[in-house]
Amino acid sequence: MTDVANAGEALGLDGLPVDPALIAEAAALPEDDAAARHANLVAQIEAANKAYYESDAPILTDAEYDQHFRRLVALEAAFPALVTPDSPTQRVGAQLAGTFDEVRHRRMMLSLSNAFSHDELRAFDGRVRKGLGLPAAPEPAPELRYVAELKIDGLAISLRYERGRFVQGATRGDGTTGEDVTANLRTIGTVPARLSEAVSLDARGEVYMPKGEFARINAEREEQGLPLYANPRNSGAGSLRQKDPAVTAARQLSTWSYQVIEDEATPLGLASQSGALDRLQALGFAVNPNRESGLDIEGVIAFTEAWREKRHGLPYETDGVVVKVDAFEQQERLGMVSRAPRWAIAYKYPPEQVETVVEDIVAYVGRTGTLTPVAHLRPTKVAGSTVARATLHNLDELRRKDIRVGDHVILQKAGDVIPEVVRPIVEKRTGEEREWDMPAACPVCGQPVVRDEGAVRHYCANAACPARVGQEFGYFAGGMDIDGLGWAVLSQLLERGMVKRRGDFFRLTVEDLESLDRFARKSAENLYSAIQKVRRRPLERIIASLGIPQVGWTTAIELAHWLAAEVPDGPGAWLARAAALLETTATDRPEVFKELEGIGPTLAASLAGYFGPGGPGEGVLEDLAAAGVEAELPAPRAAVVVGPLAGKTVVVTGTIEGFSREEAEAAVREAGGKPGGSVSKKTDYVVAGPGAGSKLAKAEELGVPVLDAEGFRALIRERE
Ligand code: NAD
Repeated sequence: MTDVANAGEALGLDGLPVDPALIAEAAALPEDDAAARHANLVAQIEAANKAYYESDAPILTDAEYDQHFRRLVALEAAFPALVTPDSPTQRVGAQLAGTFDEVRHRRMMLSLSNAFSHDELRAFDGRVRKGLGLPAAPEPAPELRYVAELKIDGLAISLRYERGRFVQGATRGDGTTGEDVTANLRTIGTVPARLSEAVSLDARGEVYMPKGEFARINAEREEQGLPLYANPRNSGAGSLRQKDPAVTAARQLSTWSYQVIEDEATPLGLASQSGALDRLQALGFAVNPNRESGLDIEGVIAFTEAWREKRHGLPYETDGVVVKVDAFEQQERLGMVSRAPRWAIAYKYPPEQVETVVEDIVAYVGRTGTLTPVAHLRPTKVAGSTVARATLHNLDELRRKDIRVGDHVILQKAGDVIPEVVRPIVEKRTGEEREWDMPAACPVCGQPVVRDEGAVRHYCANAACPARVGQEFGYFAGGMDIDGLGWAVLSQLLERGMVKRRGDFFRLTVEDLESLDRFARKSAENLYSAIQKVRRRPLERIIASLGIPQVGWTTAIELAHWLAAEVPDGPGAWLARAAALLETTATDRPEVFKELEGIGPTLAASLAGYFGPGGPGEGVLEDLAAAGVEAELPAPRAAVVVGPLAGKTVVVTGTIEGFSREEAEAAVREAGGKPGGSVSKKTDYVVAGPGAGSKLAKAEELGVPVLDAEGFRALIRERE
């Protein structure tokens, strides 16, 4: 292993572990072939980077990507002349997409070198010892201690605090410059608005989406016919990089912080990574509790083993363990290579794939009538749980993968959550396997199955199909969060005609419920009170629970804001008046829907079709209102996310009493505004104090409102 380190060091690649077998393979290539392979690998990695970092929709699995990357490192180690400054081995992340303002990081945000085996961790330890002038293993080196942390599979962010207040947050971007996602980060509960001490610092960490939220969002996207996110990392990144912070707010993102960069003006006096993690926690950040310090490399290896299986039980995704030299003084001595520090390494777990057999393929009818082929599998344990079913999405996908009944297949979990059939093991075919086709008739109601010209989905067009109706009502009960109303109860309520419209749930009495099979008085009372509990619900939840085709939370939130602004308070049920507005809009002015933020022609047509005359939504909200359901209205938007200076540009000039220039600008950012450098027609306010010169004159010339210190304070105080 020392050979590996030496080979790399000689070539200036010492932070990047290189596999000797791969180097040997590369070194055997003629120079021209090496150059061609280099160009090819760079092109593949760049295309994958673009898809992953810019579109949040990877075209390779992480394991495939890592494999390409390692081949590139090995090739460059064998042919150093191929290393150019813009090679992916020399850079972090990807180009910025230009959607957000740019933020220059005070200190570069680096990537990490990877280790894929325990031997590679030991090789890392060897390089660290050498770098610090410590004896090689197995000699003890008690002065060298590591911290092991879980590697959170999310999106790296940097949070700027000034005097204890959160003022700006950015993505990693290309490591030097990131995207300004401050407004979106403010919607995340674990990003403290204020710290427990009035210190200035940059906190680095990871934004992630919990596994449950990932599953929910993908289910919603599948229902809406939108492309699915490949894993929680991509759905987390997609959710954070939204133009509208309300969309980010509607998704349950969270953060773990793991690094702090101190400001000279307010030093924290930190000497180690383990101390920094404790301090971050004390300051109010969420710090992952699953960490261990005081380890030597064998202790680190034991930590990776301890978490290999256990990690699947965590509510968030981890793809490895990050190992860091604990003492900052040692970190400084080790320094960094092109794209990663020499004092840290990311140990990555191999993707968990198992083999199983497709025992059958069955078409399931969904809420909108879509027939989804589902593989019934020989139950197999993968990534921490036993899997017996996996969706095959649609007939095209099933054909593309060529999955047959009786096939041996490779199974994995997308993002540790959703079982996915990767491919059949063709070599194991016996000739007995059976190709599968969509049934011609709906397996539930027997009516014909339809596929529209050019469309992917097959569906049962019978709106009264019991599978569709049952799922629609089930979707509503689930969406409203009625506790204890499972399929067994629902199917009885529907079969006995006790629930014909959604409002009927709220008309059920304890006696009605007690009449159901296997329902004792106590269970009837429990379900009754669970229903009463959800009588009053946020408007967007009520709308999202209706199951309007293609309408998910984002559109529901948009509609809720619009209704809250348009429908005045008054006598009678507010929800009934909102329903009337929706129906007259759908009938007489459907173009109004299109004008709402984020609602394009397809969604607008879906809304008009749903609430319009003869549509499935006609009378639904009135019925709910008549049954006593009430809507909680959303808070006005500005107050939710942004603040009194939301979207406003403010130029500060001269001396403002009580503020330094930096503080005044921080206060503008805190209130949701953007500090500007020069005055133009686009400037919303100029804050001027003694000493103001040409900027004040320009503001007066252009008629831009000018505020003094007191006016400025009044403006930002509106927030509190
Ligand atoms: P990385 O994911 O291998 O590791 C570095 C990152 O780990 C850091 O930047 C940080 O964001 C994160 N991290 C998580 N927990 C941490 C902790 N406790 N301490 C410190 N850092 C922590 O490197 P990368 O540069 O972010 O991305 C490269 C990786 O991304 C690849 O190895 C691959 O897995 C994936 N990728 C995949 C594709 C694809 O097409 N599938 C494309 C590009 C990148």
